[in-house]
Amino acid sequence: MQDLAIVLRSQPFRERDRLVTLLTEHHGKISGIANGAIHSKRFGGTLDLFACSHFRCKETQSELVRIEEANLRNDFLKIRTQLESVSAAGYFADLCLRLTEERHPAREVFLLLAHYLHLLESHIATYEIVRSFEIKLLERLGWAPVLDECVGCEAPFFGEELSPEDSFVSLTLEKGGFLCHNCSPAESRKMPLAALLWIIQARETLIQHTPRLNFPLEPMQEAATALQHFLRWHCPGLGNYSFRSHTMLEQFLAEARAAAKLMADSKIMADAKIAADSKLAAGAPAPSPQPHLGPSQYDRAPEP
Ligand SMILES: [Zn+2]
Repeated sequence: MQDLAIVLRSQPFRERDRLVTLLTEHHGKISGIANGAIHSKRFGGTLDLFACSHFRCKETQSELVRIEEANLRNDFLKIRTQLESVSAAGYFADLCLRLTEERHPAREVFLLLAHYLHLLESHIATYEIVRSFEIKLLERLGWAPVLDECVGCEAPFFGEELSPEDSFVSLTLEKGGFLCHNCSPAESRKMPLAALLWIIQARETLIQHTPRLNFPLEPMQEAATALQHFLRWHCPGLGNYSFRSHTMLEQFLAEARAAAKLMADSKIMADAKIAADSKLAAGAPAPSPQPHLGPSQYDRAPEP
Protein backbone atom coordinates (compact mmCIF):
# COMPACT_ATOMS: atom_id res chain seq x y z
CA MET A 1 0.00 0.00 0.00
CA GLN A 2 1.25 3.46 -0.86
CA ASP A 3 -0.55 6.61 0.20
CA LEU A 4 -0.22 10.13 1.47
CA ALA A 5 -0.96 10.24 5.20
CA ILE A 6 -0.95 12.42 8.31
CA VAL A 7 0.30 11.06 11.66
CA LEU A 8 -2.54 11.06 14.20
CA ARG A 9 -0.68 9.23 16.95
CA SER A 10 2.88 8.04 17.40
CA GLN A 11 4.22 6.16 20.40
CA PRO A 12 7.23 3.99 21.31
CA PHE A 13 6.57 0.29 20.86
CA ARG A 14 8.69 -2.57 22.17
CA GLU A 15 12.31 -1.48 22.54
CA ARG A 16 13.21 -0.02 19.18
CA ASP A 17 9.99 0.44 17.22
CA ARG A 18 7.22 2.98 16.92
CA LEU A 19 3.50 2.30 16.76
CA VAL A 20 1.93 4.88 14.47
CA THR A 21 -1.66 5.63 13.49
CA LEU A 22 -2.06 7.35 10.15
CA LEU A 23 -4.97 9.05 8.44
CA THR A 24 -4.38 8.19 4.80
CA GLU A 25 -5.85 9.96 1.81
CA HIS A 26 -7.42 6.89 0.21
CA HIS A 27 -7.33 4.01 2.69
CA GLY A 28 -8.79 5.62 5.82
CA LYS A 29 -7.17 5.24 9.22
CA ILE A 30 -4.35 2.69 9.38
CA SER A 31 -2.09 1.64 12.24
CA GLY A 32 1.34 0.24 11.71
CA ILE A 33 4.77 -0.50 13.14
CA ALA A 34 7.90 1.30 12.06
CA ASN A 35 10.68 -1.17 12.88
CA GLY A 36 13.81 0.27 14.43
CA ALA A 37 12.41 3.81 14.23
CA ILE A 38 13.57 4.85 17.70
CA HIS A 39 17.31 4.57 17.19
CA SER A 40 17.69 4.97 13.44
CA LYS A 41 17.33 8.13 11.39
CA ARG A 42 15.66 6.21 8.58
CA PHE A 43 12.26 7.80 9.12
CA GLY A 44 13.45 11.34 9.90
CA GLY A 45 10.53 13.47 11.11
CA THR A 46 7.93 11.47 9.17
CA LEU A 47 6.57 9.72 12.27
CA ASP A 48 6.10 12.90 14.33
CA LEU A 49 2.59 14.01 15.23
CA PHE A 50 0.84 15.97 12.39
CA ALA A 51 3.63 15.23 9.85
CA CYS A 52 2.30 14.55 6.36
CA SER A 53 4.31 12.09 4.28
CA HIS A 54 4.06 9.66 1.44
CA PHE A 55 4.16 6.20 3.05
CA ARG A 56 4.91 2.76 1.67
CA CYS A 57 3.52 0.02 3.91
CA LYS A 58 3.27 -3.76 3.76
CA GLU A 59 0.39 -5.90 5.06
CA THR A 60 1.24 -8.38 7.81
CA GLN A 61 -0.58 -11.29 9.44
CA SER A 62 -2.10 -8.87 11.96
CA GLU A 63 -4.21 -5.71 11.58
CA LEU A 64 -1.05 -3.64 11.80
CA VAL A 65 0.87 -2.83 8.64
CA ARG A 66 4.65 -2.62 8.50
CA ILE A 67 5.83 0.87 7.59
CA GLU A 68 8.64 0.37 5.11
CA GLU A 69 9.39 3.85 3.86
CA ALA A 70 8.20 7.43 4.26
CA ASN A 71 8.98 10.60 2.33
CA LEU A 72 8.17 13.82 4.15
CA ARG A 73 5.85 16.31 2.41
CA ASN A 74 5.18 18.73 5.28
CA ASP A 75 6.23 18.46 8.93
CA PHE A 76 3.93 21.37 9.97
CA LEU A 77 6.63 22.36 12.46
CA LYS A 78 5.51 26.01 12.43
CA ILE A 79 2.34 24.97 14.26
CA ARG A 80 4.46 24.08 17.29
CA THR A 81 5.57 27.68 17.80
CA GLN A 82 2.11 28.73 19.08
CA LEU A 83 0.57 27.13 22.13
CA GLU A 84 -3.02 27.70 20.93
CA SER A 85 -2.28 26.29 17.50
CA VAL A 86 -0.43 23.18 18.65
CA SER A 87 -3.25 22.45 21.11
CA ALA A 88 -5.84 22.93 18.35
CA ALA A 89 -3.90 20.66 15.98
CA GLY A 90 -3.64 18.04 18.75
CA TYR A 91 -7.38 18.27 19.34
CA PHE A 92 -8.16 18.01 15.59
CA ALA A 93 -5.88 14.98 15.20
CA ASP A 94 -7.46 13.32 18.23
CA LEU A 95 -10.99 13.92 16.88
CA CYS A 96 -9.97 12.29 13.58
CA LEU A 97 -8.34 9.42 15.49
CA ARG A 98 -11.40 8.70 17.63
CA LEU A 99 -14.16 9.37 15.10
CA THR A 100 -12.90 7.53 12.00
CA GLU A 101 -12.92 3.77 11.51
CA GLU A 102 -9.86 1.62 10.72
CA ARG A 103 -9.47 1.08 6.97
CA HIS A 104 -12.66 2.91 6.14
CA PRO A 105 -11.85 5.45 3.37
CA ALA A 106 -12.33 9.01 4.65
CA ARG A 107 -10.71 11.22 2.01
CA GLU A 108 -12.89 14.20 2.92
CA VAL A 109 -11.70 14.02 6.53
CA PHE A 110 -8.07 13.68 5.42
CA LEU A 111 -8.37 16.78 3.21
CA LEU A 112 -10.13 18.71 5.98
CA LEU A 113 -7.37 17.95 8.49
CA ALA A 114 -4.67 18.81 5.93
CA HIS A 115 -6.33 22.17 5.17
CA TYR A 116 -6.62 23.08 8.85
CA LEU A 117 -3.02 22.11 9.57
CA HIS A 118 -1.97 24.43 6.73
CA LEU A 119 -4.18 27.15 8.21
CA LEU A 120 -2.68 26.76 11.69
CA GLU A 121 0.81 27.22 10.26
CA SER A 122 -0.02 30.82 9.42
CA HIS A 123 -2.80 31.68 11.90
CA ILE A 124 -3.08 31.35 15.65
CA ALA A 125 -6.01 29.13 16.59
CA THR A 126 -9.17 30.91 17.69
CA TYR A 127 -12.53 29.77 19.03
CA GLU A 128 -13.98 30.38 15.57
CA ILE A 129 -11.38 28.22 13.80
CA VAL A 130 -11.95 25.37 16.27
CA ARG A 131 -15.76 25.57 15.98
CA SER A 132 -15.56 25.63 12.18
CA PHE A 133 -13.38 22.49 12.22
CA GLU A 134 -15.88 20.71 14.48
CA ILE A 135 -18.95 21.45 12.35
CA LYS A 136 -17.13 20.72 9.09
CA LEU A 137 -15.86 17.43 10.53
CA LEU A 138 -19.40 16.42 11.55
CA GLU A 139 -20.48 17.16 7.98
CA ARG A 140 -17.61 15.19 6.38
CA LEU A 141 -18.42 12.22 8.62
CA GLY A 142 -22.06 12.38 7.52
CA TRP A 143 -23.32 13.43 10.94
CA ALA A 144 -24.20 17.06 10.28
CA PRO A 145 -26.93 18.23 12.67
CA VAL A 146 -30.02 19.97 11.26
CA LEU A 147 -29.55 23.64 12.06
CA ASP A 148 -32.13 25.66 10.16
CA GLU A 149 -35.43 24.11 11.22
CA CYS A 150 -37.04 22.33 14.16
CA VAL A 151 -36.52 18.56 13.86
CA GLY A 152 -39.92 18.11 15.59
CA CYS A 153 -42.34 20.24 13.54
CA GLU A 154 -40.05 21.46 10.72
CA ALA A 155 -40.78 25.11 11.55
CA PRO A 156 -37.94 27.27 10.18
CA PHE A 157 -35.74 28.84 12.88
CA PHE A 158 -34.82 31.90 10.83
CA GLY A 159 -36.45 34.27 8.41
CA GLU A 160 -39.69 35.07 10.22
CA GLU A 161 -40.23 37.51 13.01
CA LEU A 162 -39.41 35.73 16.25
CA SER A 163 -41.05 36.18 19.62
CA PRO A 164 -38.64 36.20 22.59
CA GLU A 165 -39.44 32.57 23.53
CA ASP A 166 -38.81 31.52 19.94
CA SER A 167 -35.25 32.76 20.20
CA PHE A 168 -34.37 29.71 22.31
CA VAL A 169 -34.08 26.11 21.14
CA SER A 170 -33.19 22.83 22.81
CA LEU A 171 -30.82 20.18 21.57
CA THR A 172 -31.98 16.68 20.71
CA LEU A 173 -29.23 14.19 19.96
CA GLU A 174 -31.67 11.39 19.06
CA LYS A 175 -33.20 13.46 16.25
CA GLY A 176 -29.90 15.01 15.19
CA GLY A 177 -30.81 18.65 15.62
CA PHE A 178 -32.75 21.17 17.69
CA LEU A 179 -36.33 21.63 18.84
CA CYS A 180 -38.31 24.87 18.72
CA HIS A 181 -39.95 26.42 21.77
CA ASN A 182 -43.25 24.55 21.16
CA CYS A 183 -41.63 21.13 20.65
CA SER A 184 -39.09 21.38 23.51
CA PRO A 185 -39.88 19.34 26.63
CA ALA A 186 -40.44 21.59 29.65
CA GLU A 187 -37.31 20.40 31.50
CA SER A 188 -34.96 20.74 28.50
CA ARG A 189 -31.94 22.99 28.65
CA LYS A 190 -32.50 26.09 26.51
CA MET A 191 -29.89 27.36 24.11
CA PRO A 192 -29.99 30.77 22.38
CA LEU A 193 -30.84 30.64 18.69
CA ALA A 194 -27.83 32.91 18.10
CA ALA A 195 -25.59 29.91 18.85
CA LEU A 196 -27.13 28.07 15.88
CA LEU A 197 -26.56 31.10 13.70
CA TRP A 198 -22.85 31.04 14.52
CA ILE A 199 -22.59 27.30 13.87
CA ILE A 200 -24.22 27.85 10.46
CA GLN A 201 -21.82 30.68 9.68
CA ALA A 202 -18.84 28.57 10.73
CA ARG A 203 -20.12 25.78 8.48
CA GLU A 204 -20.64 28.06 5.47
CA THR A 205 -17.36 29.98 5.70
CA LEU A 206 -14.51 28.77 3.49
CA ILE A 207 -11.63 27.34 5.52
CA GLN A 208 -9.18 30.05 4.44
CA HIS A 209 -11.61 32.74 5.61
CA THR A 210 -12.27 31.27 9.07
CA PRO A 211 -9.55 33.41 10.77
CA ARG A 212 -11.69 36.47 9.92
CA LEU A 213 -14.74 35.17 11.80
CA ASN A 214 -15.53 36.96 15.01
CA PHE A 215 -18.38 35.60 17.08
CA PRO A 216 -19.66 36.90 20.42
CA LEU A 217 -18.32 34.77 23.25
CA GLU A 218 -21.48 33.57 25.00
CA PRO A 219 -23.41 32.08 22.07
CA MET A 220 -20.14 30.62 20.82
CA GLN A 221 -19.59 28.81 24.12
CA GLU A 222 -23.13 27.43 23.81
CA ALA A 223 -22.29 26.37 20.25
CA ALA A 224 -19.13 24.64 21.54
CA THR A 225 -21.15 22.64 24.07
CA ALA A 226 -23.70 21.59 21.44
CA LEU A 227 -20.99 20.52 18.98
CA GLN A 228 -19.19 18.55 21.71
CA HIS A 229 -22.47 16.69 22.40
CA PHE A 230 -22.90 15.81 18.72
CA LEU A 231 -19.29 14.66 18.32
CA ARG A 232 -19.59 12.40 21.37
CA TRP A 233 -23.03 11.11 20.45
CA HIS A 234 -21.67 9.46 17.32
CA CYS A 235 -18.85 7.80 19.18
CA PRO A 236 -20.51 6.08 22.15
CA GLY A 237 -17.33 4.18 23.09
CA LEU A 238 -15.75 7.41 24.36
CA GLY A 239 -17.38 7.33 27.79
CA ASN A 240 -15.84 10.14 29.80
CA TYR A 241 -12.81 10.34 27.52
CA SER A 242 -11.60 13.89 27.20
CA PHE A 243 -10.28 14.66 23.71
CA ARG A 244 -6.56 15.32 23.77
CA SER A 245 -5.83 18.98 24.48
CA HIS A 246 -9.48 19.96 24.43
CA THR A 247 -9.77 21.32 27.98
CA MET A 248 -6.40 23.04 27.74
CA LEU A 249 -7.28 24.40 24.32
CA GLU A 250 -10.55 25.95 25.51
CA GLN A 251 -8.64 27.59 28.36
CA PHE A 252 -5.97 29.01 26.02
CA LEU A 253 -8.61 30.32 23.65
CA ALA A 254 -10.55 31.96 26.48
CA GLU A 255 -7.36 33.65 27.72
CA ALA A 256 -6.42 34.77 24.21
CA ARG A 257 -9.93 36.15 23.74
CA ALA A 258 -9.77 38.07 27.03
CA ALA A 259 -6.34 39.48 26.11
CA ALA A 260 -7.60 40.54 22.68
CA LYS A 261 -10.56 42.32 24.29
CA LEU A 262 -8.23 44.11 26.68
CA MET A 263 -6.07 45.20 23.74
CA ALA A 264 -9.12 46.39 21.79
CA ASP A 265 -10.44 48.33 24.80
CA SER A 266 -7.11 50.03 25.42
CA LYS A 267 -6.87 50.84 21.68
CA ILE A 268 -10.31 52.51 21.83
CA MET A 269 -9.10 54.59 24.78
CA ALA A 270 -5.82 55.42 23.05
CA ASP A 271 -7.69 56.40 19.86
CA ALA A 272 -10.03 58.63 21.88
CA LYS A 273 -7.02 60.29 23.49
CA ILE A 274 -5.33 60.84 20.11
CA ALA A 275 -8.56 62.37 18.75
CA ALA A 276 -8.86 64.66 21.77
CA ASP A 277 -5.18 65.66 21.53
CA SER A 278 -5.44 66.47 17.84
CA LYS A 279 -8.55 68.59 18.45
CA LEU A 280 -6.61 70.42 21.13
CA ALA A 281 -3.70 70.98 18.72
CA ALA A 282 -6.14 72.29 16.08
CA GLY A 283 -7.34 74.93 18.53
CA ALA A 284 -10.64 73.37 19.47
CA PRO A 285 -11.67 73.84 23.07
CA ALA A 286 -10.49 71.00 25.25
CA PRO A 287 -13.29 68.82 26.53
CA SER A 288 -13.60 69.33 30.25
CA PRO A 289 -13.04 66.06 32.03
CA GLN A 290 -16.04 66.58 34.34
CA PRO A 291 -18.72 68.44 32.40
CA HIS A 292 -20.45 70.88 34.74
CA LEU A 293 -24.16 70.35 34.42
CA GLY A 294 -25.29 72.36 37.41
CA PRO A 295 -27.60 70.91 40.02
CA SER A 296 -29.90 68.48 38.33
CA GLN A 297 -33.52 68.10 39.31
CA TYR A 298 -32.60 64.67 40.70
CA ASP A 299 -30.15 66.27 43.17
CA ARG A 300 -32.85 68.29 44.82
CA ALA A 301 -34.67 67.13 47.84
CA PRO A 302 -38.14 65.82 47.01
CA GLU A 303 -40.88 68.39 47.21
CA PRO A 304 -42.80 68.17 50.42
ZN1 LIG B 1 -41.04 22.46 16.59
